[in-house]
Amino acid sequence: MNDAVLSPPPVGQPGGPKVLLEVFGCQMNKLDAELVVGALKRSGYDFTDRDEEADAVLMVTCSIRDQSEHRVHSHLGALEVAKRQRPDLAVGVLGCMASREGEALLRRWPGLDFVLGTRDFPTVARVLDEVRADRTRVVAVDGSPQVSEERSIEVRPQRSRAFLTVMRGCDKRCTYCVVPNTRGVEVSRPMEEVLDEAHRLVDDGVVELTLLGQTVNAWGRREGRSLGELLERLEELDGLRRVRFITSHPEEMDDPLIDAMGRCRKAGLFLHLPPQSGSDAVLRRMARGYTADRYREIARVLKARIPGVQLGADVIVGFPGETDEDFEATVRLLEEVRFSQAFLFRYSPRPGTPAWGRMEDDVPEDVKRARLARLMALQHAIQEERHRSLVGTRHEVLVEGVSRRDSSRLFGRNLAFDRIVFEGDPAWTDSFVEVEIEESTSLTLAGRPVGAPAAAAR
Ligand code: SF4
Repeated sequence: MNDAVLSPPPVGQPGGPKVLLEVFGCQMNKLDAELVVGALKRSGYDFTDRDEEADAVLMVTCSIRDQSEHRVHSHLGALEVAKRQRPDLAVGVLGCMASREGEALLRRWPGLDFVLGTRDFPTVARVLDEVRADRTRVVAVDGSPQVSEERSIEVRPQRSRAFLTVMRGCDKRCTYCVVPNTRGVEVSRPMEEVLDEAHRLVDDGVVELTLLGQTVNAWGRREGRSLGELLERLEELDGLRRVRFITSHPEEMDDPLIDAMGRCRKAGLFLHLPPQSGSDAVLRRMARGYTADRYREIARVLKARIPGVQLGADVIVGFPGETDEDFEATVRLLEEVRFSQAFLFRYSPRPGTPAWGRMEDDVPEDVKRARLARLMALQHAIQEERHRSLVGTRHEVLVEGVSRRDSSRLFGRNLAFDRIVFEGDPAWTDSFVEVEIEESTSLTLAGRPVGAPAAAAR
C-alpha cells in the first residue's frame, strides 16, 4: 500500500466488487475522488485499502509535477506484474494524466484497462462495469465541459468539513501550467446548484466549506457575477460557520469579492493568492497578466479592507531566463508582503505547457536549489516572527483530529487557517475549541484549550 491510497477506505456496498482508490495531487483531485466514490457506490461497488483483495485499482492522477507522474508510472509498472498473476484485476487511470496522455498511456502499459479524463468522471462506474465484463480497453478523455457534480454527500473524510467544487477549468494560459490542457476551459456552476449542495452538506453536519476552483475567484464572471455574491448568500446559511475558497488569481480579485470578504463573518481570513515571482520580466514570460507592483497594490488593498486577512503564496524559482536580479526581486516581494504560508518550488519543464519546447530550461539545477533554499529560509523566518507575535492570543479552533506527529495532541485550524496543536480528547474532533497560544515554531502554533469544546458537527 502507498501513501496515496485512501485509508481507511470509503464505505461502499458490502459484498460488491472491491475498488482500491489512490489519489495524487491537489484538493480538487481529492474532491474528484469523492465524486468517483459516490458514483461507484451507487453502482454497487465496495472499497478496500489492501492490494491483495482489490478487484480494481483506480488512480486519480495529477500532472502538475513530474514527481507525481513518476509515482503513477512506477505503480503502473508494479500492477503489470500483479496482472500477470491476476488477469481479472481492472486498472484505470483517471484525471489529469489521463487527459494529457490519453491513448499513449494504454500503449505504454498493456495491463492498463482504461483512462478517464477530468471531465469524464460521471461515467466511471459504467466504464468499469464494461471493462470488467468484456475486458475491453477504454479511452474517454473528451467529456462535456459541463461536468455533472452529482456526489454522495455522506462520502467525505470528515463530518464537519467539506470541499465544494464551484468551477472547473481555466481560461488563463500561464506558460508553466498544464491545467488548461488537462481540465479545459473555465466553467462555473450555477449559483442555485452550488447553494443547494451547500445546504445539503450543512444539513449533514458540515460547518466549514472550502469552495474549489482552479481560478476560484473568477467564479461567475462570464455570467456577470462575482464570487462575493456567493459568499454573501452562504453567510445567510444557518449552521454554516466558515467559508474558504482556493485558489485565487490576483487579477480576479474584484471589488464585490473584497467587500464581501470584509463584511462576511464566516469568510476565512486566509487567501491563497499566488504571486509566482516578484520580477516583471519573469511574470511576463509566465503570462501571469500582472506586474509585481500591481500584486503589491492588490495585497495592500486586501489587508486594508479585510482586517486580519493573511495571504498565502506559490512561488516558482528558476523559471527560464530568471537572472540573479529577477530572483532578488522575488526575495523583496516576500519580505514586503510577508505571507503567512508559502509553497515554494523549483521550475521543471512539463510536457503540455505553453513553455514546453519554446522556453529553454536555462537556469542550472544548483542555482535553482540555492535560490529555493534561500527563499525557504526567508519564509521560515517570516513565519517564525508572525507565530511568535501570536503567543498569548486566543483562537477559535475547529478540531480536525489527532496530530500525526504527536498522537498525544489534537490539531485544528483557526479562521486564518493557522495550524494549532494542543492537548485534548480525540472525541473533540469536529468541535470548536478556544485555544490560547503558548509556544510557536515557524510551522506550528501550540497552545492549551480554554473552556469546554462546543459541538460543531451534528
Ligand atoms: S491561472 Fe495559470 S496557474 Fe492557475 S490554473 Fe490557470 S493557467 Fe494554471
